[in-house]
Amino acid sequence: MLDALGRVLVEDVPADLDLPPFDTTAMDGYALRAVDVAAATPARPAPLHVVGQIAAGAVVTAPLQEGEAYRILTGAPMPPGADSVVPYEDTDGRGFGGWSGQTGAAEAAAEREVHVLTAVECGDNVRYRGEVQRQGGIVVRAGSVVRPGEVAVLATFGKTVVWVHRRPRVAILSTGDELVAAGDAPGTGQIRDGNAPGLAALVRQYGGEPLPLGIARDEPDAVRRGLAKGVEQGADVLVTSGGVSMGDHDVVKHVLQGDGRVDFWSIDLRPGKPLAFGRFLGVPVIGLPGNPVSSLVTFELFVRPALLRLAGHTRVQKVELLATALEPIKNGSGRENFMRGIVERRLSDAGGTDSNGGIQETEWTVRLTGQQASNFVTSMAQANALVRVGKTQTLVSPGEKVRVVMLDLSPLW
Ligand code: AMP
Ligand code: MG
Repeated sequence: MLDALGRVLVEDVPADLDLPPFDTTAMDGYALRAVDVAAATPARPAPLHVVGQIAAGAVVTAPLQEGEAYRILTGAPMPPGADSVVPYEDTDGRGFGGWSGQTGAAEAAAEREVHVLTAVECGDNVRYRGEVQRQGGIVVRAGSVVRPGEVAVLATFGKTVVWVHRRPRVAILSTGDELVAAGDAPGTGQIRDGNAPGLAALVRQYGGEPLPLGIARDEPDAVRRGLAKGVEQGADVLVTSGGVSMGDHDVVKHVLQGDGRVDFWSIDLRPGKPLAFGRFLGVPVIGLPGNPVSSLVTFELFVRPALLRLAGHTRVQKVELLATALEPIKNGSGRENFMRGIVERRLSDAGGTDSNGGIQETEWTVRLTGQQASNFVTSMAQANALVRVGKTQTLVSPGEKVRVVMLDLSPLW
């Protein structure tokens, strides 16, 4: 069942029983007939004869008679004949051990009697059978994301095995003559492949199954072999990084043109302009740029929604907020720009706190991580958001509001 966490349900799950399955008490106290205590006040308490006690999990079949009560504990079934529960607090706390549950020798005489200090309405402190859920009604719908709350509901109704969408398989191929695997020491002119592990982490974070295809040299045959391996392994999507720009060695596009097709190439965005989309042997390919920032950011913007849709999700938007710029944010790119930012919470002076100490007004602020060039991979480890600056917006001045796409919602404050 825990394996279903984060997955999308493909079946409607009905309640296999009423919830609660029986009338039960919401409080520790005495189960009684409201009519027997209708005139009770602290000055003129109503004495009741306590005929026994019902703990959670116990079953009582003997019906309650006029003038009788049962000591009853939260979760225990209501005895037949009782229609309400008076909490201990509204009694003299005697009768089958009262509040403490223990009866000393001195109390033995009074043990069988309780004095009720207030009247109760019929039904007070009773949880009725089926009041939460009726048997047969749908408790979790197909298309729901299984979160801890859904797990609890499914378990409550005995559903320990569920059908969910399968994880999309996303194959990841790095391209570049200069690349060595992260576990290897780079020689002269070489760098480590940081993209494939970063992209695999994104795939897993968003519920996919990463299929690592390693590094392909900048040769059509090598890229072809790599992609073919992904297809053989049953990839739903092939993701490449590098080799999609204008250079002579940018072979990904050429391979797609030969063994598949290119649907589009180049987007009006920074970072990530050279992104390509097409097919290889019928399988969708997203060719991400090689620069580390570009590949991770374009994954978030283009691969992530596709992956979530494949996994059955219908809501794939990231949380977007309006944040106040703490510094000038310039966009000279002439393109829509997704810059790396750090969003923090600032408590507004005007808002203060409410009487419970809760926050009344929150303001989000944003500053950049520093250098925004697409080779500054370190900015991806600092950022918790992408600052979304429009194509024609050349400057966001300090104090102005700007849109931020949250990468991560864990608190930074
Ligand atoms: P490309 O898109 O192939 O022209 O690559 C653009 C830049 O990103 C170059 O400086 C590459 O060395 C670098 N790069 C490409 N692939 C990777 C990778 N997997 N990991 C780290 N850097 C890369
Ligand atoms: Mg390259």
